[in-house]
Amino acid sequence: MITKITHSIIPEWIDPAPYISGNYKESDVISAINSDDPGPAGLAAMLSSEADGLIETMAQKAKSLTASNFGNTISLYSPLYLSNYCTGGCEYCGFAADRKFKRSKLSFAEVKKELSAIKKLGIEDVLLLTGERTPEADFAYLYECVKIACSVFHNVVVEAFPMHEKEYSALVKVGCTGLTLYQETYDPAAYAGYHRWGPKKDYLARLETPSLALAAGMRTAGIGALLGLSDPVFDAVSLLRHALYLRKKYWRAGVSISFPRIRPQEGGFKAPYVVDDRFLAKLIFAFRICLPDTPLVLSTREPAWFRDGMAGVGVSRMSVASKTTVGGYAGNKDDEVGQFDVDDARGKGEFCRMLSRHKLDPVFKNADSVYR
Ligand code: SF4
Repeated sequence: MITKITHSIIPEWIDPAPYISGNYKESDVISAINSDDPGPAGLAAMLSSEADGLIETMAQKAKSLTASNFGNTISLYSPLYLSNYCTGGCEYCGFAADRKFKRSKLSFAEVKKELSAIKKLGIEDVLLLTGERTPEADFAYLYECVKIACSVFHNVVVEAFPMHEKEYSALVKVGCTGLTLYQETYDPAAYAGYHRWGPKKDYLARLETPSLALAAGMRTAGIGALLGLSDPVFDAVSLLRHALYLRKKYWRAGVSISFPRIRPQEGGFKAPYVVDDRFLAKLIFAFRICLPDTPLVLSTREPAWFRDGMAGVGVSRMSVASKTTVGGYAGNKDDEVGQFDVDDARGKGEFCRMLSRHKLDPVFKNADSVYR
């Protein structure tokens, strides 16, 4: 333990305390697996050690729910890092302001080139990323990049600095469909320690941001916790409560959930909490059982063998051929520093052949720009 978890500033609607303090029995795990709505207590039961002998049962239930809600399909997307300038001091991030490397951003001409390289892969769904708001990559820059991406892709999502509602609204108007914004950890004391300086230090402001974006008309919000920063059961139960809150309040929008684990990065930060493969698998199965129709996302942070095992067994959306450097799809950027090391470095062809062996179809296009 590196911090003492404090509940003092956690809003009631995500506080996991009432659920994680319980001593769960095997019968609680079985009830949760068989329930149509296990809720936070069911999730906590399925993440307890009492569920270890029932992981195969959880996997089968998760697989069946994923197939009923998503068919035998996996939605694909690729991330494009627009800039690695950042004023933030997130201890776990390779782009934090105190990492010493030459920063860069894509010019608008380079953005077009990179997007066209991604498009050539057949991908129609792109995630645009920046660091914290900087003079080099501010709202005006992101806005132009989103406009360019929306003229090429059917689905464009941003994972960038938190914005005001008016800014999200402006992005929606040019065709942006969603935002991805992780709370990183829901434990406020741990959060305060990891976010050494910068706007991201404000825990409550970050928690509020997905709500602002959905209120502004974004169709989807992707949320998640960076697993390994804090007690993973605490973070998982808070994450589920956050998702349930957003789904209830912004019922016209969709919520998706990601399960990123900390990867090696510039700065050499090591995760203080171990989230091993078995626990991560259990977490994904448990979330699928709790949220049968919510897209669950697994990125190329994870090793190929693990992604192969999770595809269709809980997970319904995956990144492919990802680069975490600025650009990198159109060539000439091989010496760039990435935000973190990608583990599954397979190209689109090899990844899709794996899906086919698992009797899963890749989905390149999930929405049409005409619906904007
Ligand atoms: S996580 Fe984001 S805000 Fe924090 S240092 Fe990295 S790029 Fe900057």
